[in-house]
Amino acid sequence: MKYVYIKTFGCQMNEHDSARMVSILKQFGFSCTNTPDEAHLILINTCSVRENPENKVYSLLGTLRPIKKKRPETVIAVCGCVAQQEGNHILEREPAVDIVIGPDHYFELPELIGRVQNGERICLTQRTYPKPPVFDFIPDEWLEKGHREGVKAYIAISKGCNNACSFCIVPRTRGREIYRTPENIQKEVTAVIAEGIREIWLLGQNVNAYKFRDDYRFVQLLSDVSNIKDVWRIRFTSPHPHDWNKELTDLIANRKNIARHIHLPLQSGSNRILKLMRRRHTIEQYIEHIEYLRSKVPKIEVSTDLIVGFPTETDEEFEETLKVVEQIKFSQIYPFKYSPRPGTYAEKLGDTVPRKTKEERLAQIIELQEKINQSSMKQLIGTEQEVLIEEKHPRDDNFWNGRTNSYRSITVLGKGLHIGDLIYGRVTGFRGHWLEAEYIRTIKISPLNKLSY
Ligand code: SF4
Repeated sequence: MKYVYIKTFGCQMNEHDSARMVSILKQFGFSCTNTPDEAHLILINTCSVRENPENKVYSLLGTLRPIKKKRPETVIAVCGCVAQQEGNHILEREPAVDIVIGPDHYFELPELIGRVQNGERICLTQRTYPKPPVFDFIPDEWLEKGHREGVKAYIAISKGCNNACSFCIVPRTRGREIYRTPENIQKEVTAVIAEGIREIWLLGQNVNAYKFRDDYRFVQLLSDVSNIKDVWRIRFTSPHPHDWNKELTDLIANRKNIARHIHLPLQSGSNRILKLMRRRHTIEQYIEHIEYLRSKVPKIEVSTDLIVGFPTETDEEFEETLKVVEQIKFSQIYPFKYSPRPGTYAEKLGDTVPRKTKEERLAQIIELQEKINQSSMKQLIGTEQEVLIEEKHPRDDNFWNGRTNSYRSITVLGKGLHIGDLIYGRVTGFRGHWLEAEYIRTIKISPLNKLSY
């Protein structure tokens, strides 16, 4: 038996890539292990969006050196955005590493392992995708071996990003956008539905920029996927406010299986900072999208990403962000302290906001969101929520964990449920960020349990 140990940093797209690589390696006799010591292959899937994950990668590589010394036949591979960005530099800096591969080369992994066993050290980061940018980067034979997590499947519809947000390294590491054909995407959705999966996640670095043709864009794709039989829920991440439009909102309003939650990154509440970030929209435009969305889909919840301490951000501009958070009342925020990424425009602006100020701003925004969250959780008590059951409670057979349609974590008290069931629960309270509910009735029984529905 051959073992692969895989450590993934960063975003959903990296999680998706890791799952793909595991399914490829399984075809070549590998099984997963949680122990790097017993692994024949150690894969580090890296992220360079923020400074911390990058530092973590180098310190993790340092801890792998003794394993390589003890068992030199262990193959160590670094992939993902840091690999794409740093290339050969990783091989030079870290002698324990055998392979450095960018995101375009994952399907070549088994062949590269063979070459390492013949004594090579390899760096493969050149772009391989052709123009024009429509290309089925997941070959047909791999469609049925994708990224699943319980009752959910993650399906990459595009890669790369054509934007140039000034703080972001993704356009450099992942390249320009490439879109799969709708046919190829729908084939994968149909395959996972046949397996019993009921929640589909459409993924892209800028998911709503998807464009197969001028007359076939993200909204048409989402509509087609939502029409596939037995797709109970669809989510998509991450959309960009600049590419959001009324047509997309209208589609969500008209399709029950498109989840009542969107994650729409805002980054800052100040128009001057948004401009410096090169986000291509104003705060007023963002609020207009949310207001229209809430007018059409009243129960929709919105979460967001925010950066605090962007270069030159003043106290007043940070206050503007707080005001917007207060006004919009997000269901969740993912705030980060700004850290410069080498080679970005923002790096040239200097890291002007002192670390202490960034930390204070971060604490302040988290505290505000906590208050908003407590109040919105209270308002949910007594409401009926559609819940997809994702797992049995680890300590009590009468409880089940899942997600509401609006993406809140929830524990449901109910007997005889199954993982994958779609049910209604009545919210009875909450603990921290988890809602608590009692079972009301089943909407659909999971086909994963081989029951008819
Ligand atoms: S939209 Fe902006 S932040 Fe998102 S991946 Fe593209 S450049 Fe980066």
